[in-house]
This record gives sequence, C-alpha cells and structure tokens, in this order.
Amino acid sequence: MRPRLYVDLSKVQANAQRVLELLSKHGIELVAVTKVTLGDPKIATVLREAGVRIIGESRIQNVERLISNGVTGPFMMLRIPQLSEIDRIVSLCDYVLVSELDVLGRIEEFCREKRRRVKLIYMVDVGDLREGAWYENAVEEIVEAVKLCDWAELCGVGTNLGCYGGVLASEENMRMLLNIRDNVEKLTKKSFPIVSGGNTSALKLVEESRLPWGVNQFRVGEAIYLGTDVTNNREISWLERDAFILEAEVIELKSKPSVPVGETGFDAFGRRPNFVNRGWRLRAILALGEQDTVPSQLKPLDGKAEVIHASSDHTIVDISDVDRSICVGDTMKFRLTYAALLRAMTCPHVEKVYV
Ligand SMILES: *Cc1c(COP(=O)(O)O)cnc(C)c1O
Repeated sequence: MRPRLYVDLSKVQANAQRVLELLSKHGIELVAVTKVTLGDPKIATVLREAGVRIIGESRIQNVERLISNGVTGPFMMLRIPQLSEIDRIVSLCDYVLVSELDVLGRIEEFCREKRRRVKLIYMVDVGDLREGAWYENAVEEIVEAVKLCDWAELCGVGTNLGCYGGVLASEENMRMLLNIRDNVEKLTKKSFPIVSGGNTSALKLVEESRLPWGVNQFRVGEAIYLGTDVTNNREISWLERDAFILEAEVIELKSKPSVPVGETGFDAFGRRPNFVNRGWRLRAILALGEQDTVPSQLKPLDGKAEVIHASSDHTIVDISDVDRSICVGDTMKFRLTYAALLRAMTCPHVEKVYV
C-alpha cells in the first residue's frame, strides 16, 4: 500500500467553526487558507460549510483546481504575484496581497483592459523580514500605490509574521500596522477598511483579548488543520489536533546496534546523523520517506516510538519501548507538523483517505 493520509473532514470543519466563532466575536473576518492542502476541494467545501466566506491560496494552480471542482470564490491570493501570472490571478481571485508598485501597475493595466475589478491589500513588513514595504517607508509607498489605482481597488493593509524572523504578533506590531493605515487614510482622504493582521500565530492575541481594535481580518491555515501554532510553539487546546493522521507499513523489523560499523561520511541527504550508543535496539523500517513527508517531524501515535532517521523511501523507527507487538506488514500511525503535512498533501505517492 501507499502511505495513507487520513483526513477527518468533520474535525477540519469543527476547527474552522471554532476559529470563525472566536474571530467573529472580536469583529475579525476569517480567510481560511488551503495552500497546505494543495487546494483540496473536499477540504475547501467543508470550510465553506463551516461558514467561511473567503478562501486564501498561495498558488494559482490550486485556485484553478478548486474552481474546476466546483468550489466558488471569493478567493484571496496570498503570495505576492509573479508578473508572469497577473492575468490568471486577477481573472480568478477577488483579493490579492501586493508589495510592489510595478506589480500593482500591471494589475491596474490588466484590470482596465478587461474591465475587471480586484481588491488589493498592500503588505507591510513590521519586522519579520518576509514580504511587504518596510514599516518605516510604508506610508509613502502605499500613498504612491493609491495613485496608480483606478480599476484596481486598494482596500487595505496587511502583514505577515512568524515566517522568516519568527516574529510573534504583538500589540505593538499590530498598532504599527493600524497607524500606517491611519496615516495613509489621512494623506489620501480615502478609506482602507481592511486590516489583515494575522495568521495562526496571532490567534493567541485574540484569545487573550490583547489584539488592538481595528485589526479586522486574519488569514488562517495551520490552526484549522492541525490545532497547533508552531511560531508560539503551542498546541491550541480548544481545537482538534488529529484531523490528519499518516499511516505507513512496516517492511523490516530487526534488532541492530545503535551505532554504525565502519568509517562514516554523510548520509544520502548530505547530513551527518548523530549516533548515541544505546546498545542494540528493535527498529522498524517503514515504506515511507523524505519524498512523502518530513519524517523527522512526525509524532508517532505509539507513545514510546521514536523516528530516528529517514532517506527518500525508508524511515527507521526505534520501537524497542513500544507497548504493543508490531510485525512486518503492520502499520504505524503518526500526527504531523505543518511541514510534514505540506509534503504529504502535495506528494502523489501518499493516498488521501477522507473520513
Ligand atoms: C500561509 C499564509 C498564511 C496562513 O498562515 P498559517 O500560519 O497557516 O495560519 C497567511 N498569510 C499568508 C501571506 C500566508 O502565506
């Protein structure tokens, strides 16, 4: 069998509902992000059933997949556009995050030509060092952006956190974003109703009622699928954490020493594993590898099992301390992190089983 990824759609739906409920209590709209699912139409459908209005995607191919499977917009393009894809993005998406005046100019041109309207959110970098106008120059840049818009509608500002610098959402950086919006409104005498302030890592601020008033849109993926918040290194207690389970088959079961024999170089991926001599250990090899997921980030459901290493197609798990008896042909199951889920969802060799 291929590795199986079980997707519990009712848990995904329940999580989306809970996030939606928390956010709407605080006047925040939820954009549910499907990029980690490769734009899975079944998942998008349960998000819609949960009451989600806008679906956020990072790749136009995923939006096309959703549409061709009957999922309708509005869609938000999360990744700032490539010039080479502006026509497809503007034709299919209702909201687009932007951070370059040249891109915005081309979007305006395309809109005018096609007599199509699109809503743009200008990204501001408040410190994480991924996309967006640096906060100290953002007001000037956005004022320039407003001048370029006619058919395209610049309707808000946004920021992204926790993706490069690992910067956490805070009252301070959310206020910075709000101040930039207020200053741009003053200078242009136009209104910018959307302040798209957060992703999963900002939910904590809302839970603790510390989010400054005025931030009114969050784009959330991880929390809905995994019930975790990797940036804050926490599990979100009020969400389901096992909506996705990965299962793989045992193809070898042997006791071996924990340290290799012979002169050692690097492993198949150019890494140098660290070996600790724990004597002979019972190890299972799974028909699963780096191609299918990020094995080092799997969390075994068998409590005392430990993933010790993986190459492209083999994952070695130490099962010496596992309570149940495991035979060749049996399977082992795992919860996943965001990175592990991303690779599993996007790998054609992983079978998706919807429950
Ligand atoms: C992926 C992404 C999100 C969603 O982030 P999560 O941490 O999964 O909630 C939000 N905004 C942008 C711009 C993204 O690229």
